[in-house]
Parts: sequence; C-alpha cells; structure tokens
Amino acid sequence: MSLFKFCQVCGEAILDTNVHKFYTGAQLKVKWQCNGGHKDTWRSSPDVRGMPEVNLQAAASILFTGGTFTELSEWSKAMKLHMIGTTTFHAIQKAYLHPAIEALYQQQRNELLARVFQKQAPEDDDMWPQQLPQLLGDARCDSPGFSAKYCHYSFMLDDTKEIIHTELVQVTEASSSVMMEPKGFKRGLTVLLGMGLDVEVIATDRSPSIRKMMRIEHPEIKHEFDIWHTAKGFLKKLKSRSQKKCMELLRGWTIADQRRKTKWLKSDSASFRTLASLVQDGRLLKDLGQMGLFMHTGELEVFHSALLKYMPKRQHFSYMGMQERSHLAIMDHNENIVKRRQATTTTGALRHKRVACRRSGKWVIKKIYKPRTTNFRHRLMDMVYERRQDPDVQYKAPTSSLDQPQPDLPPNIAPTPAPPLQELLARHMSRL
Ligand SMILES: [Zn+2]
Repeated sequence: MSLFKFCQVCGEAILDTNVHKFYTGAQLKVKWQCNGGHKDTWRSSPDVRGMPEVNLQAAASILFTGGTFTELSEWSKAMKLHMIGTTTFHAIQKAYLHPAIEALYQQQRNELLARVFQKQAPEDDDMWPQQLPQLLGDARCDSPGFSAKYCHYSFMLDDTKEIIHTELVQVTEASSSVMMEPKGFKRGLTVLLGMGLDVEVIATDRSPSIRKMMRIEHPEIKHEFDIWHTAKGFLKKLKSRSQKKCMELLRGWTIADQRRKTKWLKSDSASFRTLASLVQDGRLLKDLGQMGLFMHTGELEVFHSALLKYMPKRQHFSYMGMQERSHLAIMDHNENIVKRRQATTTTGALRHKRVACRRSGKWVIKKIYKPRTTNFRHRLMDMVYERRQDPDVQYKAPTSSLDQPQPDLPPNIAPTPAPPLQELLARHMSRL
C-alpha cells in the first residue's frame, strides 16, 4: 500500500484512514482521498463494460483448458489470491463462455462441411475427382459396462481424421446403458445424412444392434467392421489358447518380435489344429467380407483421450456443460490432427528421437512432431471479450448463492421439510 502515501496530483499526504481496499472477484480496488481533496479509485485490472476483465479471463481460461471451477478455486486459495465465486463463474459461463464455444464450433464445422461437400460434388473436371465421405464411428462411455451415465458417439472422417460430429446420450434416454451406443450412432448418422452428407462407407465395431440397423435402414451405405478391434480380439483368443500344454510352438506365433524366427507348425500338431479352428471360425470368416477396406477406428482413441481431458471423470456436469466441453475437445483435436507435422531442425532436416521399446527392450526411432497449437482458445477469448462489450447480451449478475444454476432435481431426499435449526439443536443438546 506504499503507492498510496502521497497524492500523484498535488503531492499532499494521503492518510491511512483515507485508503480503502476491497475486492470484486479477482480484482483489487483501492479508494483513496488526499489531504488536498483529490480522490479516485485505482483498479488492479481494467473493466470491460463494468466487469473486471480479470474475472472474465479467469473463468474463460479455466473452462477453455478443460478445467473446473473447483480447480480454479483451490489453486487460487493455495496461492492466497482473491478469486471469483461459484455464482459469478456460472453466470459468466452461461452468458459468455458457452455461447462463444457454440459459435466458434458451428463456424468451424461449417468450414469442415463445406470441404466435404466440395469433395463429394459430382465430378466436373479431371482436376477434382469426386470423393464421397468415408466415416469411422465409435463410442466412449464415462464408465465401462453397465453403470455409465453418459455416452459419446463420435464420427471421424477417415481421410483427414477430423471429428465431424459427436452425439451425447444420457442413460435416461436409453432403455439400458448398453443401448446408449446404438442410440448415439443412430441419432448421429441421422444428423449427418440430414445435413446432406453422401456417406459411402462407415466403419464401426461389430455391435449386433448397429449391424442390424445398417443392414435394414441403410442398405445404400457400405458397412465395414473395424479391423483393429477384430485383430485385437483374435490375438487375445490366440494367446489364451496358447497357454495350454503342448502349445509351445503356437505361443511363439503370438509374440510380435519372434514371428519371423518361429518354426512352421506341423499339420498334425495340436497347435496347428487350434490355430486352424480359430482362423476358420464361421463368424470371423463371414465378417471378414466386411473388412476388405482395412479401415480401423484406432485414431478415434486419440480423440477419446481429448474428451477425457475436457471432461474430468470425477466431476459431474450438466448436459449443456458436457455438450460444450465435447465441442472444445473437437476443436482441440481437429486443430492438431490436421496440422500435426514432423518437426525439423534449423537446416530443414526431419527430427527423430530414440525410444526404448518396452516389449523387446530394443532401441527404435520415432518421429518428433511440432508442438500442439491452441489457436481456438485465443479466438474464443476474443469472442468472449466481444460478447461482454455488446450491451445487447444479457448478463444476469449474481446477487446471492440462490442464483446458482441448480440441476433439475428435488432439493433433498427427506420425506418432510426440515425443522428450524434452533429446534434441532435443542433436541440434540437434550439427548446429551
Ligand atoms: Zn491531491
């Protein structure tokens, strides 16, 4: 507070009793008056149409990096920094952050769709061959098995690996948690076809309800099965069978590095018969007919890890919160998957690194990629600032904790209303 000892205008002293400090969220304000009669208020952060800019920035940057209000609050408490409260955070989120995410997401998706439409347009010259969209689809549920509450079904363009759509399904919308995946698939595909996508082929896992749906409702679209999931399942079976007695030779065939050195199986051996029975499995042979394009959904796992970053698992979010967080994940993924180029040295040579392979213990070479970029976050911050400057945008200033958005649930599970606190306290005391 040594800045407020003398007046900057006339040099007169400012008495300590004439300096008042207070906070608006993360912004410090100092009201002062000098002995010469000058007075003013100093602010640690500028205002944007009456709202401290630092409050707007704190809320925006925690959400846009996939964090939560709890994290922001705990971080600032540990630093002993003043911070906005939960009601202000939610009011800012509702008025400025969610609408900004939605606007930028729609804008980027329209650009992506425009590219797809241009490629799928009928060929009019040899320079631009027609290319119909080929999609990959897979689900990620918030917890495995039957206890999942939310499920995301995402669609990826096979050529660029960009996410073109994601569908959020709540367990209450489906008859059971396992039915969330086909439900998300159906709803998402309907949206994509409704927008005018001329889908040529779509690769998914071998879920019975999805294959039935494709066969009956969309015979015009080629349905492929994800070869990655199938190969993983096959290897798992092979490994478990090869653990049995007299299967030593077969075991060699399940270890990637040894395959080339492994001896051929004799046609009268137990190992050979086991391998033959697995390879000639009727269902696998039938399904192989739908794996000829060798499409795999492995890249969707990359996107699922982005989803996880923007939706920490321990935290509960509203449907709207989940939706906007999944749009953040899409913007992050799409910005980086397309531009991910190998890094180069100052002389232009491609950069590599040495990595020890976990399984074989040998050293191998891997590409070094350019660092990820986050231009979408800077654009979002600009949009938030512009929305705050617009006097037509409604902002409901929080007045009390009652303004906090409540989930659509009864306030408590008790069958009778709560008695007055004093009464309960008296009852409690009389029992002691
Ligand atoms: Zn003065």
